Amino acid sequence: MKKFLDKIKEKNKEEDEFIQAVEEVVENVWDYYLENPIYQKHNILEAIIEPERVIIFRVPWVDDQGKMHINRGYRVEYNSAIGPYKGGIRFHASVKLSNLKFLGFEQTFKNSLTSLPMGGAKGGADFSPRGKSDNEIMRFCHSFMQELYRHLGENTDIPAGDIGVGAREIGYLFGMYKKLKNDFTGVFTGKAREYGGSQIRPEATGYGAIYFINEILARKGQAIKGKKIAISGFGNVAWGAAKKANHLGAKVITLSGPDGYIYDKEGVSGEKIDYMLTLRNTNLDIVEPYAKQFNLPFFKGEKPWKEKCDIALPSAIQNELNREDAECLIKNGCSIIAEASNMGCTAEAAKIAAKEIIFAPGKAVNAGGVAVSGLEMSQNSMRIDWTRNEIEEKLKTIMKNIHNSCVKFGTDLNGNTDYVKGANIAGFVKVAEAMIAQKE
Ligand code: GLU
Repeated sequence: MKKFLDKIKEKNKEEDEFIQAVEEVVENVWDYYLENPIYQKHNILEAIIEPERVIIFRVPWVDDQGKMHINRGYRVEYNSAIGPYKGGIRFHASVKLSNLKFLGFEQTFKNSLTSLPMGGAKGGADFSPRGKSDNEIMRFCHSFMQELYRHLGENTDIPAGDIGVGAREIGYLFGMYKKLKNDFTGVFTGKAREYGGSQIRPEATGYGAIYFINEILARKGQAIKGKKIAISGFGNVAWGAAKKANHLGAKVITLSGPDGYIYDKEGVSGEKIDYMLTLRNTNLDIVEPYAKQFNLPFFKGEKPWKEKCDIALPSAIQNELNREDAECLIKNGCSIIAEASNMGCTAEAAKIAAKEIIFAPGKAVNAGGVAVSGLEMSQNSMRIDWTRNEIEEKLKTIMKNIHNSCVKFGTDLNGNTDYVKGANIAGFVKVAEAMIAQKE
């Protein structure tokens, strides 16, 4: 395994986040890989690690003062063994090839876990919407799509939102796509309801994460009602999770931004949840105004992981919870760390949490978002619109099945479940079998 990983590291030098994601998967599937000679014959592990195609392009755009800026756009079309490329678009200053490769790689396994026919992809740009005007964001989206459109198609590659890309940006991107292709198809998911978006899509990642936690608790004979949840972030994922946590009687005690975190003893509920949307639309990317608005304590420059909670739900960005954070949470009685963000925990944090308490990985916990994207694609293809109830029931079933797959592939003879191992093997098998069948 070491020799294999050394080769991958040599080939992908300085791509730390990508290596982190690959190492986790290889460590987990290695025994399974060795037990199946057909996988080795097809060199399937090396093939699955290599993206099928990477597109890199220039994105010029003009600011409100008339000055031209140049950003770098990407689309990593990772794997199309089980369906067309599918995954979000991220606009954030941190975007570079390494993190889009890790995100595309993770997406391939995540999409496989949903059981829907979607391959893996990720895209984005090193463009930060922070402090930009609405018109600047529109011009950026239009320029981005003027290149990307030629690589997309409803049966080829279907993007969606991610950090920095919500309903507004998807509107601008989809509008330009339609104009350039003269074609109205479901080539984007996360669209607004008026033009083909699905019920529940904006809430789906957060809802799915809470359903997944519910399954973990049910297996322990517990309920989510009355549990205290510490959430990081205040964007789409955190918003959906806060809504569903409230529906089910849990209490969300923190939210955070790049500027610090807020602590809400009474719980984030009612109008405070709606205010999260207002905050996002300011384009400022800070959570402090929330503390001012509701007269709550704000901890500048700090992360919420020092607070006593039953469940920690990182919902902002990769590697936002490190070893010290995990140790502090465990010491304070937290019994579940579930990643709603993609690779929200560092490798060390994930390992400690998996050993001491329950750790659930992003590719399983946050799969509800892309799962409802898959349902949006189906509705668009069939030209129908499922009700809120129908989507919510389907989402619940999908999350339950993902949980069951993790248990099936991740439980040892003593009955201990390793959710990371379970998610990785379950996600791997379907993609590997499809690649072998297609001799890819
Ligand atoms: N960006 C989301 C994710 O990380 C959703 C992707 C999609 O719906 O295609 O899974």
